[in-house]
Amino acid sequence: MAKLSRELKAQGIDIVDLSIGEPDFDTPVHIREAAKKAIDEGFTHYTPVAGYADVRQAVIHKLKRDNDLDYTPEQIVVSTGAKQSLANAVLSIINPGDEVIIPTPYWVTYSEQVKLCQGEVVFVTCSIENNYKITPEQLEAAITPKSRLFMFSSPCNPTGSVYSKAELEGLAAVFARHPQIFIISDEIYEYINYEGKHESIAQFGDLINRTILINGLSKGFAMTGWRLGYLAAPLAIAKACDKIQSQFTSATCSITQRAAITALTGELTTAHEMVAEFKKRRAYIHTALKTIPGLVVNDPEGAFYMFPDISAFFNKSFEDSQINNADDLCMYLLHKANVSVVTGVAFGQPNCIRLSYATGMDKLEKGVERMKTWLGKLA
Ligand code: PMP
Repeated sequence: MAKLSRELKAQGIDIVDLSIGEPDFDTPVHIREAAKKAIDEGFTHYTPVAGYADVRQAVIHKLKRDNDLDYTPEQIVVSTGAKQSLANAVLSIINPGDEVIIPTPYWVTYSEQVKLCQGEVVFVTCSIENNYKITPEQLEAAITPKSRLFMFSSPCNPTGSVYSKAELEGLAAVFARHPQIFIISDEIYEYINYEGKHESIAQFGDLINRTILINGLSKGFAMTGWRLGYLAAPLAIAKACDKIQSQFTSATCSITQRAAITALTGELTTAHEMVAEFKKRRAYIHTALKTIPGLVVNDPEGAFYMFPDISAFFNKSFEDSQINNADDLCMYLLHKANVSVVTGVAFGQPNCIRLSYATGMDKLEKGVERMKTWLGKLA
């Protein structure tokens, strides 16, 4: 969609892009300054594969401050984005034939990384009634003797759903009965949470010994291009990830790592300001989408996405446009309404589309207005 939108924009068409997967904010000034200083101070060489010792300390500081979790430096591996942290973790755990339980909708990278390791993906379909979150009963039913890993994100991309403490406790009780299962907890949207305190599944029981906690700078600090993610894991897993990473990419960028110390240990004021802005936009788009007949709108508590069910438009048409599925609807919205959104098929939920509100209020208003007009023509 991003590529198609760019092509249409190049033709001079005014596209409202609601397909964006990154904050539309600049990296905070104090973090940028730290990077400039790092260049001038000569931090331009190879670093230890898992990251500079003081960067790993900064990660430990952050995990204690925000999540009340205790780790040693050997348990932390800093990588080229949370995506690489996920890849390291999956590669270190999954052997051919191992089953990996993934609640859907999910971020597409999860299943593809599992397939690269010849693992078997076991999807569990979550319903809008439960705000697209897996229940303990569903989890229990999906577990077999071959289950090796559970992968999820909270706050979630694409739904924006956030697991509460009670919900995580419910899942933790299931995991307690199945000690062969590791958990990848992707917390990259941690700070973009509008309703309450972020909770990590690593906090419950002894799950810290089986959880690979993934986080990074991309979303909370608006640093997608800088490429820094990290994992905190049981020692054996962290060691394996270090080894794997040493043969793929070595460490991430030295300059980014220096800036990360400032990000992870500094004030979170700019992150909070960004989230306050996202919160206003969410309030607007949540209410506005509900006024469009046919959309079934979910209630996201985090991230910057809406994930409405659009199946009411299937088998409808307008002039030469026939809507049979979510892909057709996305193309219709792009070419007729000039609004770019992402098909839910990409996230394992073919009845939905994903809209990002990581864009200005004026564009959101224009986008919603156009969607309302053009969806209204389908009959
Ligand atoms: N996890 C989720 C759920 C994401 O949405 C993304 C980015 N789209 C990532 C991980 C990857 O983040 P990074 O840019 O740090 O690799």
